[in-house]
Amino acid sequence: MSLFDKFTPLARARAALGDADIAPIATPIDSVRSATEGIIGGKPVILAGTNNYLGLTFHPRVIEAGREALSRSGSGTTGSRMANGSYAAHRALESEFAAAFGWPACLVFSTGYQANLGTLSALAGPDDFLVVDADSHASIYDGCRLSSATTIRFRHNDPDNLDRRLSRLGTDARRALVVVEGLYSMFGDQPPLREFVEVKRRHGAWLLVDEAHSFGVFGDRGLGTAEQAGLLDEVDFVVGTFSKSLAGIGGFCVSPHRELELVRLASRPYIFTASPSPAVIATTRTALEILVQGRDLRRQLHRNFSRLHQALQAMDYRLGSPKPGPVLAIVLPDSATALAHWQELLDSGIYTNLMIPPATPNGTNLLRISLSAAHTDQQIDRMIAAFESITEARTVEAQSAD
Ligand code: PMP
Repeated sequence: MSLFDKFTPLARARAALGDADIAPIATPIDSVRSATEGIIGGKPVILAGTNNYLGLTFHPRVIEAGREALSRSGSGTTGSRMANGSYAAHRALESEFAAAFGWPACLVFSTGYQANLGTLSALAGPDDFLVVDADSHASIYDGCRLSSATTIRFRHNDPDNLDRRLSRLGTDARRALVVVEGLYSMFGDQPPLREFVEVKRRHGAWLLVDEAHSFGVFGDRGLGTAEQAGLLDEVDFVVGTFSKSLAGIGGFCVSPHRELELVRLASRPYIFTASPSPAVIATTRTALEILVQGRDLRRQLHRNFSRLHQALQAMDYRLGSPKPGPVLAIVLPDSATALAHWQELLDSGIYTNLMIPPATPNGTNLLRISLSAAHTDQQIDRMIAAFESITEARTVEAQSAD
C-alpha cells in the first residue's frame, strides 16, 4: 500500500507514449527566441502550440514596461494585497480593465485559474447554484468545488438543456450563476451566446463568461465573444487571464455590478496568496492598452487562422469547430495517429500540442494548433506544406497497402 498507488493508471498512460528523445507531453523547450520561434531538441521550430494570440510577449513596449517596473519597484510584492499592502499599479490595472468594459468593478488575481476559483467560490454560497457547461475548464470545476453552492452541469453548448436545468430550479434560478466560456480551448468552438442569454434572462439567472481564450481575439476592442455578439449588456461577470493575448500571467474579473468589490473581502484565492509582481502588472497594463487598440493585430490573427483552417479543411481533416478560430483542433482517429502527426510536424520544424486521453473528453485524440498575429505568411505556408506532406505520405502508404 502506498500513497503513490493511485498514480498507476496515469503512469501507464504516460508510458504508452514511449520514451522518445523529445516528449510529446510537457515538451522541453530549450529556449524561446520570439513570439513564434523557439528551439526544441537543439533545432529551430515555429511555435504553433502556445496561446500567444496577439504575439505580444516580445513587443518592445511590453518588454520595456516590465524592465522599468522591475528596476523601479523590485522583483516581487512578497505578499498578499489584503495582508501586506496593495500597490498603486495593481489598482490602476483594475481601473483600466474596468474602463475598457465601461464597467465600475474589477479584481485582479495572481493567475487565470485563481480568477475562476476566487470569483466562483466567493460569489456562490450554500443557498446558490453554479450552472456550468459540461466542457468547462478545470479552473471552473475547481471553483465549484471550492464553493459551497450546488453545482449543476448542462450539456455543452446546449441552450435547451440549460433551459431544462433552470426550469427545475423554479424561482431559485434567480440565485443561479450560469457559467460559459467565450471559446472552448479543447475543440476551439464558441458558445451560442445569444440563445444562452435568452434562456438565463427568462429565468432571472446570472451569467459569467470566461473569455480566457477569446479576450484580445474577438470584438472590435478585443473584449471577447460577448462584445463581438453585442451582448456585453447581458453579462454579469467576465473572467479572463493575462496568460494568453495579454502575454503575462495573472487573471481578472470585471463586472457591471459595483458590488463585485465585496468579493475582495471574501475570496480565499484572492486573499491568501501573493499578488502579481510589479513587472507582470506593468507588462499587462501595456499589453492591455495595445490589445484594446489592436484592430490590425486582430485582423492579422483572423487572416492567419482562416488560412490554416481553410487549408486543413481542403485536406479533409476533421476539425473540432466548423468556424475558424485561434485554436485549431484536428480530431484524429486514435492516439497513435495523433502522436505520429505531432512527431512528423515537429520533424518539419513545427511545434504543436498533442491532446489525448485521459486529458481529453470522450476519449478524443487531438492535435491542437494555436495561431498568433505574429505568425508570418511564410510560417503559415510552412505549416500548410508540412500537413500536405503528411497527407501525401499517408495516401501513398494507403495505396500501397491496397
Ligand atoms: N479559463 C480557461 C477557459 C482556460 O482555458 C484557462 C487556462 N488555459 C484558465 C481559465 C486558467 O488561466 P491561467 O492558465 O492563466 O491560470
